[in-house]
Amino acid sequence: MGPGPSDVAPSVLRAMSLPVLGHLDPLFVAMMDEIKAMLRVVFQTKNAMTFPVSGTGSAGMEFCFVNLIEPGDEVIVGVNGVFGGRMVDVAERCGAKVTKVESPWGKIIEPSQIAEALKGRRPKIVAIVHAETSTGALTPVEEISKLAHQAGALFLLDTVTSLGGWPVRVDEWEVDEIYSGTQKCLSCPPGLAPVSLSDRAMAVATNRKTKVQSWYLDVNLLASYWGQERVYHHTAPISMNYALHEALRLVLIEGLESRWKRHQANHELLKKGLTELGLSIASQPGHQLWQLNAVTVPEGVDEATVRKALLNDFSIEVGAGLGPLKGKIWRVGLMGETSKPEHVETFLRALRGILKK
Ligand code: PLP
Repeated sequence: MGPGPSDVAPSVLRAMSLPVLGHLDPLFVAMMDEIKAMLRVVFQTKNAMTFPVSGTGSAGMEFCFVNLIEPGDEVIVGVNGVFGGRMVDVAERCGAKVTKVESPWGKIIEPSQIAEALKGRRPKIVAIVHAETSTGALTPVEEISKLAHQAGALFLLDTVTSLGGWPVRVDEWEVDEIYSGTQKCLSCPPGLAPVSLSDRAMAVATNRKTKVQSWYLDVNLLASYWGQERVYHHTAPISMNYALHEALRLVLIEGLESRWKRHQANHELLKKGLTELGLSIASQPGHQLWQLNAVTVPEGVDEATVRKALLNDFSIEVGAGLGPLKGKIWRVGLMGETSKPEHVETFLRALRGILKK
C-alpha cells in the first residue's frame, strides 16, 4: 500500500513465467500489436505512435523530452512535487531553457499560473505532472492544454500514477506527448513506460535539425521496431511485455469506468475511516488522488515508528513523505490490484492499534 509498485495479479505473474520468444518472432510481433491496441484504449487515443518504452517511468519521461527538445528550446514545467522537479532536470540536460511554474507541495498547478508564465513567451513545450505521487494532488489539465496550444506550444503530460486509476483522455485533452509506468494503477511489475505521441509531436521529432541526443530513446529509430517495418532496434524485454499484455487485458475486462469508480470508492472508504480516527488528507481539497493518499501525521506521533510497525507487525507497506513533506505525511497507495475494501479495512485496523499504543 505504498506509492508503487502495487500488487500484481497472479495471472500477470504467470504470464511472466512463460517461455521467452524471440523479439521478432511472429507470435511476439502479434502480441506487440495487441499491446499497442490496448494501450490506445487505456490512453483514450487514436495516436498511431503508442507503445511501451523499455524502461521504467523515468525512461518514459526522458523519452518525451529528448525527442522534442533541441538545445536552446524554451520549456515551461509545472513543479508541485518531486516529479515536476525531475522533469526540470531532464529538460535542462537536453539543453532546454526551463521556466518553472511552482506551487506549494500538496497544491495543484492552476491554469492562471501557466497563463501568467506564457505571457510574452513562445515555448516549445508546456509540461505537467497529472498525478503528483509525492503529494497526492491531481492537477486538472484540460485548461492548461488549451493555454499551451494557444501559445503555439506542445502539451506534455506525466501520467505515471494516474493511468488506469483516474480518467486520462489523450485525444479529448489534446495531449501531444504522454508517458506512464507499469507499476502503479496498471498493476504490472516496474519495467515498461507506455507512451503516446500525437501526429504534431511526431512531426516535431522527425523534422529536428539535430539528432536526438539518446540513441536508445530516439522515437525515429523505435518507430521502425514498434511500427510496421519491425526492424531490430534493441532486444525487447519479452517477459515484461507478456506481463503488460496480461495486465492491460485485466484493465479492459474490468472496464475503465468501473476501474476508476473502484479507485474512487476505496479512497472514500479510507477517508471515512481516517476521519473516524481524527486524521485527514493533506493534499488540496477537491484535488485529492484516489490512488495515493497523503495522510497527515498527527502532532506528537513519529511517522517512521508507525510506518515500521505497519511493516513489521502487519506486513503493510506505506510510503514516507518526501522533500518538505518528510515526517509530515504517510503516503497510502490504493493502486490497481491494491485498491480493495479489505485492504483499506486492514490498514485502518492496524493504524488504529498502533496509534493507540
Ligand atoms: N513520474 C511520477 C509521477 C512518478 O510517480 C514516478 C515514480 O514513482 C516517476 C515519474 C518515475 O517512474 P519510475 O520510478 O518508474 O522510473
